[in-house]
Amino acid sequence: QEITPADSKVTPMMAQFLEIKAANPDSLLFYRMGDFYELFFEDAEVASAALGITLTKRGKHQGADIPMCGVPVHAADDYLNKLIAKGHRVSVCEQTEDPAEAKKRGSKSVVRRDVVRLVTPGTLTEERLLDAGANNYLMALTRLKGGSLDGSAVYGLAWIDMSTGSFQVSDTDHQRLAADLAQVSPRELILSDNLLQESELRLTAEQAGGALSPVPRAFFDSSTATDRLAHYFGVKTLDGFGTFSRAELSAAAGILAYIEKTQLGERPPLDPPVREAGAGRMLIDPATRANLELSRTLSGEKQGSLLATIDRTVTGGGSRLLASRLAGPLVNVDAIQHRLDGVAFFLENEIMREGLRQTLKGAPDMARALSRIALNRGGPRDILSVAQGLEAARAVLDQTSATAGTIPAEIAAARASLEQAPHDLGSELTMALKEEPPLLKRDGGFIATGYNADLDELRSLRDESRKVIAKLQADYSEELGLRSLKIKHNNVLGWFIEAPSAQTEKLTGDPGRFIHRQTMAGAMRFTTTELADLESKIASAGERSLAIELEIFDRLAKAIIDAGEAIKAAAHGLSILDVSAALAKLAQEESYVRPVVDDSRAFDIKGGRHPVVEKALKKSGGDSFVANDANLGPEVDEDIGHIWLITGPNMAGKSTFLRQNALIAVMAQTGGYVPAAAAHIGVVDRLFSRVGAADDLARGRSTFMVEMVETAAILNQAGDRSLVILDEIGRGTATFDGLSIAWATIEHLHEVNRSRALFATHYHELTALSAKLARLSNATVSVKEWKGDVIFLHEIVPGAADRSYGIQVAKLAGLPVSVVERSKQVLSQLEEQDRRSPAESLIDELPLFASLTAPAPSAPAGFAEPDPVSVALESINPDDMTPREALEALYRLKTLR
Ligand code: ADP
Repeated sequence: QEITPADSKVTPMMAQFLEIKAANPDSLLFYRMGDFYELFFEDAEVASAALGITLTKRGKHQGADIPMCGVPVHAADDYLNKLIAKGHRVSVCEQTEDPAEAKKRGSKSVVRRDVVRLVTPGTLTEERLLDAGANNYLMALTRLKGGSLDGSAVYGLAWIDMSTGSFQVSDTDHQRLAADLAQVSPRELILSDNLLQESELRLTAEQAGGALSPVPRAFFDSSTATDRLAHYFGVKTLDGFGTFSRAELSAAAGILAYIEKTQLGERPPLDPPVREAGAGRMLIDPATRANLELSRTLSGEKQGSLLATIDRTVTGGGSRLLASRLAGPLVNVDAIQHRLDGVAFFLENEIMREGLRQTLKGAPDMARALSRIALNRGGPRDILSVAQGLEAARAVLDQTSATAGTIPAEIAAARASLEQAPHDLGSELTMALKEEPPLLKRDGGFIATGYNADLDELRSLRDESRKVIAKLQADYSEELGLRSLKIKHNNVLGWFIEAPSAQTEKLTGDPGRFIHRQTMAGAMRFTTTELADLESKIASAGERSLAIELEIFDRLAKAIIDAGEAIKAAAHGLSILDVSAALAKLAQEESYVRPVVDDSRAFDIKGGRHPVVEKALKKSGGDSFVANDANLGPEVDEDIGHIWLITGPNMAGKSTFLRQNALIAVMAQTGGYVPAAAAHIGVVDRLFSRVGAADDLARGRSTFMVEMVETAAILNQAGDRSLVILDEIGRGTATFDGLSIAWATIEHLHEVNRSRALFATHYHELTALSAKLARLSNATVSVKEWKGDVIFLHEIVPGAADRSYGIQVAKLAGLPVSVVERSKQVLSQLEEQDRRSPAESLIDELPLFASLTAPAPSAPAGFAEPDPVSVALESINPDDMTPREALEALYRLKTLR
């Protein structure tokens, strides 16, 4: 149905609606009507379905009913929240004049309305709409064609958390893009329409998880980007902020343009953009991030993720900082040591730590309160939050000063930012605010008694007047002998005298004194000059005191905004202390150790545990977790990592072992202690994992295809500083195909990638490879057989599994006894026929992978044609390929055989 404002037959109100709607086409329009926000047409259909509220009709448009639904203004936040959570954007349209004004213009004129705010998932600031422990990032993605030295495209990224004002930029390339998006995990991602139309880029963007918001290409115009940034921050040049690439500037300008659009010109206070060097972080691609369940489980929940398991922070800011650190572990050894020193400090100073945590527990979210105040959305409670935050900063400074040893740099830097906090302002705010102020400043009543003499005087006048009214009521009722006479107040009449209708003769008999106002069912209402005088006194005192309060509010808010930088720095300082103390607490409670992290290729874990599985086992009170060693480091005189090939029955603990080692690397490089007896890790620059994939139906890929794409990405990108975790490669296809792919994958990892790797498989044949590959060792998970049943010991030991115990596991799972017995029969027949595994002979006959990839020796002219596979292989440079291209190349190669 075409909606046009220029329709002569529509009502004036509908005309106004259509005009506003036309100006805000890509969001749901909340149109204010009295105590409701109403939605019309398609908006109503979308919102009623998303909110589960009734869809009704109001009037007709071009002969058809107009679909309508509405939400009450007082509960609007909850509905907004639901819509935003589902990725919608909402324009809030308010009445911008008093209805009385509209009436003055003529009986037909409608109240003026305007969109006062555009609410989108990435630009929220309201406490109720935000998750205290999670960052709420708005991110912009842009691409510069041929922006790099070698002519390939460069991607610019910018991301902002409007609720705290943080602003970061980076640039990246095609290969890293998905991992970089996943690290930030934005709530909303903006990109230009034309990029969105490219299906591959769109899929990558969707994978980042947030709502996608298309914006005009002009937002990202890189030629004017510098000026726009300088303008936003009110500076002449950006030199003071550092140097940025053209792609970064373009993304930064785009995100600012979007913010100005959604905030309708308001400029939220942002930190100057900080360049986040992507190379300074461990690269974790989206599949690995999801598989390892770093911040969410595979089913999308927080509970059960690594983050939820290790988070012992007590403040929202601390929790957000820990989440962002875990999302992007460091690769710089010194920086990692700094953080570890901070944790060590709070392990040594336990009493200090507990005192600190106690103080922090009561500290409000100062950073978010500050942002709301600066955006003119703050209330008295936000001012109180800043006051209490600053008080906490002072208390924490005292608490962390007394120590015998030296204070590590991480802690010292945090304390320095607390020292610079505006403590005088804090004291003033504390004095100014009541202890439990109302949420909104609108009605006043938030300034403490004793702060402002004029205000106190007006308030006592008001209180006095109330007492006078009480006395007046007593006087009247005594004089008239009416005990039921009352003086009451409502918003329509103001103060009035009320008496039961049956007893009002004395009042009606003296109309010069008792002026009749209203007749009710059982009562009559009157006023007197005395009462009217008092009333106006009270009203004017109320008005004047409200004006004073609002004036004080504005002054305090301005002082807070002026000190914004220092307040933000102090909030960040508190978050750092919270994280360091929390990681120390965790290490103590769960017996984690400090990892040794250096630039070697070591990966030596003694007695490692899986933090999440261990916790789950503890909780259930069953068996305790069996700790296991892993050593993938080079031997003397080498500098390349080793591969462990792990076989063993299902349910034995292979996946757990694989994942725990990846998690230990992540935790160590986040700067935390690790669940092990000892750990020595040479910095891991990229972490890859391929573990039990699910169908990716959105991309039309089967499980096997997903697995192969992920494997291709690993084989193309992993290097000798990477850690690779591969679980059950080749499972989704016929046995020999699968075995062959797994075989070749191991050879490639060993010969070409030379990464440290753990490889779990159910193909026992692969264990034969260790005879040929020097740095490949076999390991297995030990099991015990007892009276025909299998008992899992969860212990990783050298060697290969001799059997797969599949039937025993099936029996444990409750397969009918008859089926179990029958499978045993079939198995023994099969084993009879196939004594010698085909792989064992292969190992003697098949040349190694490396000799295949070596350049083909040129054949003497006219003697023999060169092998087409070798020729094709020579033209392939894996480092230049996307996973998709690699896969296509693989298929091409197959056709050449
Ligand atoms: P697999 O990959 O070999 O099929 P999993 O790693 O999924 O096996 O482990 C199966 C179950 O065994 C886990 O859910 C866990 O409860 C238990 N488990 C695994 N490893 C250990 C361990 N080291 N100590 C105790 N229980 C373990």
